[in-house]
Amino acid sequence: MNRLYFTEEHDMFRESLRAFLKKEVAPHIDKWEKDGKIERFIWEKFGEMGYFGLAYPEKYGGLDLDLFYTVILLEELQRINSGGFAAAIWAHAYLAMTHVNKEGSDDIKEKYLAPSIAGEKIGGLCITEPFGGSDVAAMRSTAKDEGDHYILNGSKTFITNGVYADYLVIAAKTSPEKGGKGISMFIVDSDTPGINATKLNKLGWRASDTAELSFDNVKIPKSQLMGEKDMGFPYIMQHFALERLIMGINAHARAEYAIEYTLQYMSEREAFGKSINQFQALRHRIVERATEVEISKNFNYTTAKRLDAGEYVVKEATMSKLQSTKVADETIYDCLQFLGGYGYIEEYPLARMLRDSRLGPIGGGTSEILKEILSKMIIDNKDYKPAT
Ligand SMILES: Cc1cc2nc3c(=O)[nH]c(=O)nc-3n(C[C@H](O)[C@H](O)[C@H](O)COP(=O)(O)OP(=O)(O)OC[C@H]3O[C@@H](n4cnc5c(N)ncnc54)[C@H](O)[C@@H]3O)c2cc1C
Repeated sequence: MNRLYFTEEHDMFRESLRAFLKKEVAPHIDKWEKDGKIERFIWEKFGEMGYFGLAYPEKYGGLDLDLFYTVILLEELQRINSGGFAAAIWAHAYLAMTHVNKEGSDDIKEKYLAPSIAGEKIGGLCITEPFGGSDVAAMRSTAKDEGDHYILNGSKTFITNGVYADYLVIAAKTSPEKGGKGISMFIVDSDTPGINATKLNKLGWRASDTAELSFDNVKIPKSQLMGEKDMGFPYIMQHFALERLIMGINAHARAEYAIEYTLQYMSEREAFGKSINQFQALRHRIVERATEVEISKNFNYTTAKRLDAGEYVVKEATMSKLQSTKVADETIYDCLQFLGGYGYIEEYPLARMLRDSRLGPIGGGTSEILKEILSKMIIDNKDYKPAT
């Protein structure tokens, strides 16, 4: 293990987490992939084990550990080969809960963060809309001030956990005339009257529920506003740094797992009287991929270390997602090829991995948008500052 980043305590955590996932999660994955639904008991078990609280304050039941425990959680989740299961877990623990922890009032944290850490409540983060995906500021959902409450109208789409979540962190315009500068964040129970969810059928991430949501005159008490009014856009952008690094880490971890599996397969599969790992054409390609994955991984670890030390690593997190998801897609494409026909068969892991990996360059900011952000930073010298 890389001692620049991981201590013996980290190693022990990884070992016990890997054993837990193998025993408690892996046997159910095929069913959850087929049903498009993760059974509730596993959320509670994750809560009991403290996995949702790794990065959160002890005051709300968390463990307040350094970011490398989160890195380990993300990496090990990729090794059980269900991008959908992993997404459900990290979208709850790091998309929804990050907003609750950073912007929620003490009351909101008592009511939502503590049960989220315990695995009793599941959250989803609702930014994307049918007419505002990459262009976040173009969102049309509005929350109108009606004195002691807001009235929310509009819609969201592609929301991870959106069907089965207990609460939703929702971005909506409180001052539409201000465009992107008029967005606020709210936390809303998903059974609030006026909220409707429709499940979407997807290429991959099949264990995870992805929803289209409609909001029809949803009444939100003022106390459910998170952070300051009209500050939603900077909050979203600020938390994207963590989200993008998470997606970069997921990518290097699934690519590494794909290589590990494929090397084993190649050592056992024979053609023309020898194992296929003896063919130079394949040897060169897989070591090239292994090199790219190793470089991505090390860059992601450095970025995680700097983020954990309080640096605003928006540029590096953007690079992490851009590069690692590309490397993962190319690696998994090649690994599937090295399995020949078996790569295409569902009983072998590469088929699902290829489907799941494809979301990497799309979700949480497409590669094209990431290049736009990097162009502004690298070419135009734009400096992004944190919201608070
Ligand atoms: C399975 C899944 C889960 C998701 N989970 C969540 C979630 O939990 N919460 C959430 O809020 N969102 C979620 N998303 C949404 C995701 O973040 C968006 O799909 C993504 O940001 C792209 O937005 P869009 O789909 O509207 O694409 P569009 O914005 O319509 O883009 C279409 C194409 O145009 C390109 N494009 C757009 N603008 C530019 C530009 N300026 N320059 C160059 N190219 C451009 C894009 O790169 C893309 O290739 C999820 C999506 C999926 C598929």
